[in-house]
Amino acid sequence: MLYWPQDVQDVDAVMAHHEPLLTAEIKDRRLEVVVADITTLDVDAIVNAANSSLLGGGGVDGAIHRAAGPELLAECRKLNGCPTGEAKITKGYRLKARYVIHTVGPVWSAGQADRHQELLASCYRNSLMLADEHRLASTAFPAISTGVYRFPMDLAARIAVATVRSHVTAQETGLERIVFCCFNRESAVHYQDAFAELRLG
Ligand code: ADP
Repeated sequence: MLYWPQDVQDVDAVMAHHEPLLTAEIKDRRLEVVVADITTLDVDAIVNAANSSLLGGGGVDGAIHRAAGPELLAECRKLNGCPTGEAKITKGYRLKARYVIHTVGPVWSAGQADRHQELLASCYRNSLMLADEHRLASTAFPAISTGVYRFPMDLAARIAVATVRSHVTAQETGLERIVFCCFNRESAVHYQDAFAELRLG
């Protein structure tokens, strides 16, 4: 199903209700593209695009720590950081989400494009594996690495959608709903392109 809001008022309505802009079903699992602040989503886990210290930062990381409260930082301090491409899980504290999965995306450089694409795919794979280990039914991803880490948005969206699709296709996942959470409509367009390329939706 494809639904694009016609005007700005519609976009506000879509954001307020977290109605997906785009959905696809694979093996009874639902993939959604939503325009929202990820901290407001009602899912079992939201994924944080963290830095390797796991001690908070700007962008989506800062927003998640602000919304979750200081207990999140206290738990993160005990984790001893996280290497790029890997993921660690904490509780969600004051968030609606019960858990936060912290993953560290690569800082993009064109000279290491292949390695950075593989690391970004690892972020999605390892986050999905953690969600399955904790028997979660729903999770939401921000566009990892596409902010201050400067990963090209179109490429990042393709990697995100392709990696999630592979996981859902190849694994016995308990995840019933996986959300690609875009902060604005411009980034949602890249997910729309990725869904179309992979013949989803
Ligand atoms: P990174 O360091 O991995 O690049 P950023 O936080 O700088 O992480 O940005 C990652 C993506 O998250 C960007 O596309 C940015 O627009 C988006 N983003 C920032 N804040 C939020 C939020 N509250 N909810 C959802 N997405 C967000």
